[in-house]
Amino acid sequence: MNIPFLDLKANAKTVKSEVLSRIEEIIDNSAFVGGNYVASFEERFAAMHETAHCIAVSSGTAGNHLALWALGIGAGDEVILPVNTFIATAWGATLCGATPVFVDNDPESYNIDVSKIEAAITPRTKAIVAVHLYGQSADMAPLQEIADRHGLYLVEDAAQAHLATYNGVPVGNFGVTSSFSFYPGKNLGAFGEGGAVMTNDAAIAKRIAMIKDHGSEQKYHHPIEGHNYRMSHIIGASLDAKLSYLEAWTDARRSRAALYRKYLADIPQITLPQEMPYAKHVYHLFVIRTQKRDALADYLHREGIASGMHYPIPLHRQEVFAHLGYREGDFPVAEAQTAEILSLPIYPELQEEQIAYIAETIERFFTEEV
Ligand SMILES: *Cc1c(COP(=O)(O)O)cnc(C)c1O
Repeated sequence: MNIPFLDLKANAKTVKSEVLSRIEEIIDNSAFVGGNYVASFEERFAAMHETAHCIAVSSGTAGNHLALWALGIGAGDEVILPVNTFIATAWGATLCGATPVFVDNDPESYNIDVSKIEAAITPRTKAIVAVHLYGQSADMAPLQEIADRHGLYLVEDAAQAHLATYNGVPVGNFGVTSSFSFYPGKNLGAFGEGGAVMTNDAAIAKRIAMIKDHGSEQKYHHPIEGHNYRMSHIIGASLDAKLSYLEAWTDARRSRAALYRKYLADIPQITLPQEMPYAKHVYHLFVIRTQKRDALADYLHREGIASGMHYPIPLHRQEVFAHLGYREGDFPVAEAQTAEILSLPIYPELQEEQIAYIAETIERFFTEEV
């Protein structure tokens, strides 16, 4: 049996005819940037997260940049973020000219270890970026408490966590801003690149909306500096069509995770992901851990099962950040986990037989291995 890591074709099929007719309409009207589908998507995406403002942008990376830019973060400032995340979390800081400061993982949730944040705060620290890694909310209450006590902005990188909740409240309502990605492989994927920034603060929403549109509200009037981070209409039309399925797809991801737990329950050599008591996990990724990671990944590959590593190199070991002076051993939890993590296929279209086959193959690996 061949099991891909993602099945974007099956996912696209759901909305293909609807999006094709919208594309035709967009071409006929020739309004290619922004437009009514982008506006509709912004409104509905905000409502689903119970958030006041959503600004559609060109990517999650643009969203991370805009979030910190709109808060006035710049050269000489430090921004605290988890060492285990996709590199684009750090680009938010570096694109503003600020310096990223890394913090180790919590051993259970893989998210930022809240107990290690205060040691990383200096007089230059301006913000903490909480990443809801793999689709599970970071522990937002203590993060907010630390941010408040030190006068720091708390910002969410929710690129992997559409519709995830923390104590029943959707992500996107904890930080002063939150950014989302609609890269095709994310839980909500556009027919191309896309992103969004959300906030409950009207003044910040206005700033972000202006910055992403050349620092302008009124054509050819530019009171502030900006960029072109707008969303294209066809992208918005694909997202607006897919959004109608996001709740069902999220439930499907959670039920696939439950099936993995059932079928993988009796394999002592692997550690399953933990659902933290405060979190509704939306399983962008289903990450297990084993000391035999590389051998298991090879074995699965030979049996036709794709897998991934998120992420194979923590940020402090990335060449681009060599100048920051971190060393091997600075983040012992992340470093140990990096050698053991393995992401198994998870998506709404994944079938129970496929999950059973993956589990059976993993079990066979450990039986043969002795
Ligand atoms: C995907 C991702 C991003 C970047 O989003 P793009 O839309 O690909 O630019 C940022 N942060 C995290 C945690 C991500 O997973």
